[in-house]
Amino acid sequence: MSDPFDLSGKVALVTGASQGLGRRFAETLAAHGAAVGLAARQTDKLEDLRRAIEAAGGRAASTALDVTDTAAIDPALARIEDALGPIDVLINNAGIAVARGVLEQTEADWDRVLDTNLKGAFFTAQAAARRMAARGGGNIVNIASLIAFKVVGHIAPYAASKGGLAQITRAMALELARSNVRVNALAPGYIATEINRDFVASEAGERMRRQIPQRRFGTPEDLDGALLLLASDASRYMTGSIIVIDGGLLLA
Ligand code: NAD
Repeated sequence: MSDPFDLSGKVALVTGASQGLGRRFAETLAAHGAAVGLAARQTDKLEDLRRAIEAAGGRAASTALDVTDTAAIDPALARIEDALGPIDVLINNAGIAVARGVLEQTEADWDRVLDTNLKGAFFTAQAAARRMAARGGGNIVNIASLIAFKVVGHIAPYAASKGGLAQITRAMALELARSNVRVNALAPGYIATEINRDFVASEAGERMRRQIPQRRFGTPEDLDGALLLLASDASRYMTGSIIVIDGGLLLA
């Protein structure tokens, strides 16, 4: 029986691939056979990752892309396609968080978070979907968050952005099914990376850890299984699904 999770022959683009979850997603996809396009604002870390993937026998190409610069998105996709071939899978991962109470939030922070996590994600998915639909199909995996479903303090704009991304996932899935483009999302709970480094190390972080039914923060590797499911043909009859990976925190 062939391996339904095998990505050989596929091209996957990961945004925000320079560190954290995006880096792990790129490594995992490459290890399962995909040629991987790496995008982030700065290319120095991407080049290190590209070399590491190639040293392990994989194929990769990198490009600069700031997803808040919507005019730059399609040219970046074109550069990856020139290097690797048509993009089959988009991992729409670039994202930021700004921790500040509701009364202290600034318009500039709101714009930065929403422009990256919601507007940038939408127009990256749109640009990829246009290319995929024109070629007969493709697969988009948005990186939402548990915070699309559960609210915690000090990240109201982030919660709005990820709640919006969950709805965009469903809206795009509905419209694009006829074009054979699938759109699903991962909703990770607390996975220790740069984005939450200060929180994880804080007393509030420790209180949060004790609320997680599995009593630990996740690691990027904890997302491998769900990523491979959504990125591969193993999920061919799934679209509009959002998989929560949170050690049970949504239940707590
Ligand atoms: P991270 O800060 O380590 O990585 C974020 C990545 O996004 C970096 O590579 C960064 O350069 C890139 N990025 C930020 N703004 C960008 C822009 N404008 N254009 C292009 N790239 C940009 O954080 P992470 O934890 O790896 O987060 C990755 C994604 O996962 C984010 O969307 C985040 O919201 C989501 N997420 C993370 C967690 C978690 O606990 N770590 C939980 C749920 C969701």
